[in-house]
Amino acid sequence: MNKRELPLALDERMRARLLDSVDNGFTQQVEELARLVRIPSQRGAEADAQVFIAKHLTARGLTVDHWKIDLDAIRSLPGFSPVTISYDDAWNVVGVHRPRNKSGRSLILNGHIDIVPVGPLEQWTKDPYGAEIEDGWMYGRGAGDMKAGLMACISALDALRRVGLQPAAEVYLQSVVEEECTGNGALACLQRGYRAEAAFIPEPFGHRLMRAQVGPMWFKVLVLGDPQHASGAFSSQGANAIEKAIYLIGELKELERRWNARKDQHRHFCSHPHPINFNLGKIVGGDWPSSVPAWCEFDMRVAIYPGDSLEVARAEIEEFIRVSAAADPFLSNHLPVVTYHGFMAEGYELKDAQELENVLASCHFDVFGTPLQEHATAAATDARFFGLYADTPAIVYGPQCRMPHGYDEAVELESVRQFTKLLVLFIAQWCGIESIAP
Ligand code: ZN
Repeated sequence: MNKRELPLALDERMRARLLDSVDNGFTQQVEELARLVRIPSQRGAEADAQVFIAKHLTARGLTVDHWKIDLDAIRSLPGFSPVTISYDDAWNVVGVHRPRNKSGRSLILNGHIDIVPVGPLEQWTKDPYGAEIEDGWMYGRGAGDMKAGLMACISALDALRRVGLQPAAEVYLQSVVEEECTGNGALACLQRGYRAEAAFIPEPFGHRLMRAQVGPMWFKVLVLGDPQHASGAFSSQGANAIEKAIYLIGELKELERRWNARKDQHRHFCSHPHPINFNLGKIVGGDWPSSVPAWCEFDMRVAIYPGDSLEVARAEIEEFIRVSAAADPFLSNHLPVVTYHGFMAEGYELKDAQELENVLASCHFDVFGTPLQEHATAAATDARFFGLYADTPAIVYGPQCRMPHGYDEAVELESVRQFTKLLVLFIAQWCGIESIAP
């Protein structure tokens, strides 16, 4: 039987050593982040970026699992979101670290590689894939949300390795797709069997702990019109599908108001100014300027509170649209069709995780010298999969980002450095540390 090593203590000297190690590797960390930002990784086109991550994890000596998501394997699992796109090129990557002598608690570090579209390029003052640095901010789509956090996970392990150390428990470093639209990438990691005693997701929330998040849901409404020559549009003949859609969109504002009025029933959202956003994200319709439009389709993103039922929310939306349509002479005989594709997410709150929170709060204090602040967000993260479907508390906490999903998205590099320091201390405290060589 091997003599068991005592875990190394995280005393003042060790802390200072780890923080210095982050500083010593920070130039390399920024260079690697820039290389990742320069690889576009929109939905369905994340494969190259995942190869980049897999190579980096392999080079670090982690055991790498790089697999294509199998829709049929996850379709019936709780938390699955319906999709209409192909997953033929949807790859997940997990790097596994195993300790020599486990003495601490295991940890999942999870980040998403997918990024949202950039929109009209001429609206950017910087190249969205240029990773240009100005005044301490790195610009680029996904620089903040959330390639900086993902690379910080790799860099935190590097910082340990640079001083001859490694986590004294299993660490699973996950780079997942589909976070911005379904969460099916994180779900596929659960299906594949990855479990740990806690998860940490470095979304760019400005060094605040995320206490709760809403559950977004996407739906599409198809409105059919009655096409005629435009010359007859002023008469009672014909029905303009685009105008009918605009009518429904206006009515849906009332449902949004009602859902926000219920925030008082939700302890983490009662003081939030506007937790539920009905976002008209996309609209298409019509074929020809001189024809009354025969069709219009719009996509909306709504959200529910933690603990609320998606099924009830869907029924409420469909009934609301049915009642709105019934009030219109044409739509009452041509009912709009509601379908679901993309987010079908429950809300989530972090609870019953005091010890985990204590570790985060003490690391936050070590780095910033201030008490840890928390917030509830009107957005969603993959934390729900760990918390709701794997009984694993998930911390969401990360660096400072400007304009996520907007023009000139940028991440503050000093905040990335501080976050990486926090993460090294967190890993050392949660997982324990041991020397690499016996
Ligand atoms: Zn994100």
